[in-house]
Amino acid sequence: MLVRVPDYYEDFRCLAGQCPHSCCEKWEVVIDPETAQFYQEVPGDLGEKLRGALQRDEEGDLCFPLNGGRCPFLDGENLCEIHKKLGQEATSITCQEHPRFTEDYGPFREVTLCASCPAANALLLGSREPLRFLETKTEEPEEEGDDWLSVLVPLREKLLAILAERALPLRTRLKSFLLLAAQAQWLLEEEREDEIPALADAWTPPEAAVQKNSLFFTAALRLLGELEVLETDWRDLLARAEQAAEVREEEDLLERIAVYFAFRYLLKAVNDGDFLGRAQLVVFSVLVVERLGAVCGLGEALRRYSSEIEHNEDNLAALLEAFWQQEDFSLERLLSALE
Ligand code: SF4
Repeated sequence: MLVRVPDYYEDFRCLAGQCPHSCCEKWEVVIDPETAQFYQEVPGDLGEKLRGALQRDEEGDLCFPLNGGRCPFLDGENLCEIHKKLGQEATSITCQEHPRFTEDYGPFREVTLCASCPAANALLLGSREPLRFLETKTEEPEEEGDDWLSVLVPLREKLLAILAERALPLRTRLKSFLLLAAQAQWLLEEEREDEIPALADAWTPPEAAVQKNSLFFTAALRLLGELEVLETDWRDLLARAEQAAEVREEEDLLERIAVYFAFRYLLKAVNDGDFLGRAQLVVFSVLVVERLGAVCGLGEALRRYSSEIEHNEDNLAALLEAFWQQEDFSLERLLSALE
């Protein structure tokens, strides 16, 4: 099977006890059934502690409820007691995989490093080079994938190439990106997906006559404030960003953020047909992260946004719905926010 990863993937190293925003805090880790079964057989005090800590959450999954906002196995040096005493393989699948997000498409797999993790975030924003993706082949057999992949994979390639056209201002590239995604969405809905490759090959963005929308950020930040919250000061940060003067961040870094989101989300349209919504999510995310960056710096803005939004499926679903249902976040409004 082919596996695709961002070009900095192999450089990732967990900061462990030195991490300033450990993933062992704030999040309640789900314990997969196999690991939970293993914990039933661990002897001694640690075994007793593991079995005593296991609880069911509201969804019925096994987890370790937080203790003072921290995993009960995080010790005084911010290291994992399970990892230290039993080895990494004794930790849950979630712990072993974080900050990797893995998407299996059948014939290939894609893995990203979530920008909520300070080490992954630093790798993403630690370079100004165009972000590329590396492919390797594993022994694992390929499985059949969705029919749409044959058009959506090259379409995403084209969209990633548009984002990386550095001769143009980033906002011009983001407009072109949205307009191509919109036309592709229309062809998908008309069941004319076989015309998408020709559309992408011959793509020149049409002139879109739109007026600047200065109210977009107020609406966007308030929408985010209505979603589920991980850390209580998130809403304060959103409110401060609403008052902050606009700051234009470095385009090369914003481009890398856009490519990160586009790689991660666009192909997920095979699950529900919503390709344009995910393209809107990419542009919305870049604009909001840039605006938050005016308050707390670009890297921290991305880390906070990623923690609050990318780790919460309900929040992601609410944003996708808003792009279709709310006029403030329609394609036209996003295009006008790019003026
Ligand atoms: S957030 Fe990242 S660097 Fe920090 S402890 Fe978790 S995986 Fe390691």
